[in-house]
Amino acid sequence: MTVEIITIGNELLSGSTPDTNASYIARSVNTTGLPVSRISSVGDGIEEIVGALKNVLAETRSVIVTGGLGPTDDDCTSRAAAQAFGRKLCLNEEALAAIEKKFQGIQLKVPFPSRKQALLPEGVQIIPNPIGTASGFLIEDGAQQFMFLPGVPYEAEAMTESFIIPHLREKNGLPQFIISKTLRVFGLWESAIQEKLQGILPGKTSVSLAYLPHYPEVRLQLSARGTDQDAVRSDIELCAGIIRETIGEFIYSDEDEPLEAVVGKLLTQRRATLAVAESCTGGAHQ
Ligand code: ATP
Ligand code: MG
Repeated sequence: MTVEIITIGNELLSGSTPDTNASYIARSVNTTGLPVSRISSVGDGIEEIVGALKNVLAETRSVIVTGGLGPTDDDCTSRAAAQAFGRKLCLNEEALAAIEKKFQGIQLKVPFPSRKQALLPEGVQIIPNPIGTASGFLIEDGAQQFMFLPGVPYEAEAMTESFIIPHLREKNGLPQFIISKTLRVFGLWESAIQEKLQGILPGKTSVSLAYLPHYPEVRLQLSARGTDQDAVRSDIELCAGIIRETIGEFIYSDEDEPLEAVVGKLLTQRRATLAVAESCTGGAHQ
């Protein structure tokens, strides 16, 4: 059982918009223990979208698609889905009712282009959108499931949490939990950290350690998986404790907080202030 993510939009291919939907969804799916086997992006053209939908990997069971559900003519994901799965495009009463409800809230009649957002392939399951007007939808095609979400990042993210993740967990009989914890280290570079931590983590846990250098610091990400959430959390804390004993003086946060937030908190606790002055560097920052 693997998951694929397809994001749609010319702006993703031109590089003008970073694909935050794919990274957000991949991170969320990973917390369930299900592997993401491929992430791909295609432009807004109907043929490109149809091609992408027909070309998912054979082992993929769930595909999450974002983008192109809007009311404007450049958004044609619903039409492409109808074409790819050989279904008619028809007015979906449930999606239309959801749009009407949103417009009632702001006391406006539904404009014609917004009605287009209720034109969906026949026989889909609606994925409610708690924020915007475009409903998402789910299509079953043989053993594969395709879940379509709007492109707007905060809508796609909200629907990932409210529907996609609970749905994947339920469909797959609650697979594993993946928990991670990030320690932020300043003053020791990754090779020096590795030397000090060599062989100190207990082999019997499933905890893995990733070194993520982000100049001028290194983030140490501990991750573990398992079906018992408490046991996974306690393995992570055990390893974090061992690391703290070894290089604790270089760790400034074990909550993945940025340096300035930690300094700000310490200043507030001590009722202290910090004044800085900069001069004569000619714009250089080092
Ligand atoms: P809308 O109802 O707003 O038209 P939509 O489903 O048609 O929603 P798009 O038109 O494709 O979505 O995108 C809406 C906005 O979200 C645009 O600003 C777009 O750049 C941005 N967006 C779309 N896809 C992504 C993505 N994968 N990552 C980050 N931003 C994205
Ligand atoms: Mg778009």
